[in-house]
Amino acid sequence: MCVVSMLGSWSAIAENNDSRFDSFPTYSGSDLELDANAQRANFRLWSPEAEAVKLSIYPTDRNSAAIETVEMKRSTDGTWSASLPGNYYGKFYTFRVKHNGKWLDETPGVWAKAVGTNGHRAAIIDFSSTNPEGWAEDRGPAIENITDAVIYEMHHRDFSVDPSSGIVNKGKFLALTEQGTHNLTGESTGIDHLKELGVTHVHILPSYDYNSVDEANLPANQYNWGYDPYNYNAPEGSYSTNPSAPDVRIREMKEMIKALHDAGIGVVMDVVYNHTADNDGSNFSLTAPGYYYRHRPDGSYSDASGCGNETASERQQMSDFIVNSVKYWADEYHIDGFRFDLMAIHDTETMNRVAEELKKINPSIFVYGEGWTAGDSPLPVERRALKENVAKMDGIAVFSDDIRDAVKGHYSDAADRGFATGKPGNEETVKIGIVASTAHPQVDYSKGNNSKFPYASSPTQIINYVSCHDDLTLTDKLAKSMPGSTEAERQRAARLAQTIVFTSQGTPFMFAGEEVFRDKKGVHNSYKSPDSINAIDWSLKHDNAEQFNFYRELIKLRKEHPAFRMTSAEQIAKHLVFDKNTDENVISYTLRDHANGDSWKEIKVIFNGNPKAMEVKVPKGNWTVIADDGKIKADGLGKAKGGKMTVAPTSALILAR
Ligand code: CA
Repeated sequence: MCVVSMLGSWSAIAENNDSRFDSFPTYSGSDLELDANAQRANFRLWSPEAEAVKLSIYPTDRNSAAIETVEMKRSTDGTWSASLPGNYYGKFYTFRVKHNGKWLDETPGVWAKAVGTNGHRAAIIDFSSTNPEGWAEDRGPAIENITDAVIYEMHHRDFSVDPSSGIVNKGKFLALTEQGTHNLTGESTGIDHLKELGVTHVHILPSYDYNSVDEANLPANQYNWGYDPYNYNAPEGSYSTNPSAPDVRIREMKEMIKALHDAGIGVVMDVVYNHTADNDGSNFSLTAPGYYYRHRPDGSYSDASGCGNETASERQQMSDFIVNSVKYWADEYHIDGFRFDLMAIHDTETMNRVAEELKKINPSIFVYGEGWTAGDSPLPVERRALKENVAKMDGIAVFSDDIRDAVKGHYSDAADRGFATGKPGNEETVKIGIVASTAHPQVDYSKGNNSKFPYASSPTQIINYVSCHDDLTLTDKLAKSMPGSTEAERQRAARLAQTIVFTSQGTPFMFAGEEVFRDKKGVHNSYKSPDSINAIDWSLKHDNAEQFNFYRELIKLRKEHPAFRMTSAEQIAKHLVFDKNTDENVISYTLRDHANGDSWKEIKVIFNGNPKAMEVKVPKGNWTVIADDGKIKADGLGKAKGGKMTVAPTSALILAR
């Protein structure tokens, strides 16, 4: 969510009352809040300023009185503890903290790993009972570099809820476990569709327990993206078949992950540690009031998230919380990657810890995020995990808003066009995307629309894309910026736009359903729009079969040819050479000398963003035509001799030899 880049900073951080938090003792043991087995349940809540803490045990997840309430005892490093002998599996618990003479509301804590309906009570369960068959052997795909990934961003409900999906468990984790599903005309849907398309990783929108959908009233069919975190370490209940049974959402999420892993597809989780749904009522505020957030000098919540608050990753206990939380998801759920929402609200030190610790668990795990904030923050600019600071973060990638806006037009102006829709002046910024924002002798960063310097030290630090869940879908953006155009013309522009993304250095990222030309009826901020806006209509896969085949071949081309997936800035500077003196709205370059060990000695890539055919000069030789006139085939469409060649309107010409 949120796409604003803000670089201003406040100077008053030292005068802020927040500095008192720096003297708090911290505790990062893995036994925080609950450590249980069949013989006992141990509780340990971190709450350094609490005057007293009560623990209550309940028989059910809601509508029941406590069967036991105990006073917790002050323990080490700012924690409070209680130990209960006996088998507590199946029971629920909450904490209550006394702060400044007042008892705060009940909270399941910040480390609830299992929860009941709407997450208000934490659950004590035997986690070994949540593992699907074969879980011990379950592994995600091994990849050497993030640039080998092809990322597909998906919302559970968008993907499966429409009747045309043919899926039984609509809008649920289990949707992705169903094999052999298809639309009315027989084209595959669900996980079979993903396999057919060839993406390597699915990026699921927030799947931790979020606030906005009432899990007690699922027939109401509420929709939300889920950028309103409530319990960070338990899955969202509305994606399960039974939110009141804490083990069910856990097992079903694991079954989804296992099904994807069995299909060779990795799972990236969208994580939103930068803010919480509520301020004073959040689990952070109810356990350690004030500590987890940044404040303005007047004591009010600062709001770099644009959602009412921002968390304080520069404080040890919050930094540890983020690091331990992603480690937990990687360990317990076998998550293969993490996408950090508004990552620049976090400090670079914490993000570096995240990347380092995850690589220890699984070297194939990767981390990327939005290298911007949605408002100003007390955190100094130089400490923010901004895209401009990505060179300080080894092993972290950022979204390139440079290529996004240059290819299709600015995100905030629906009518604005970009390179692929015929607006000149974006050529240099598209080139910045092609070289993955690394230093390249032929790219003049002073002419860049957004960033004015090569901010990435390696192509592994860049995610290239032209659309995501935020803002208009590519289909809607093209409709609004190309008035009077035919659908065929718009599909052609979409193909050119994605061809630029998928052949560029860096890692390609696409929004689910674009391969069938899905739209959202022109709604740009559909975070709580109904299914009628957000659901993918799978009959489109039949109607737009040619579009789907284009995407499939484009992905195949990238996966078969490492020249598009170079791993260092030096490699790109050496092997990627732009042609000089190209016409307006034409970009032409060569990937030369078996770039990155490619079987092809030379690949010629030419983009024509003009709505008319253009002539280009290609060296004479025996070329295989890979893409031409809105068509693409990884194994070749035909042969060409080079010399003077025509690039059809709004299309790519790709040749190889
Ligand atoms: Ca929820």
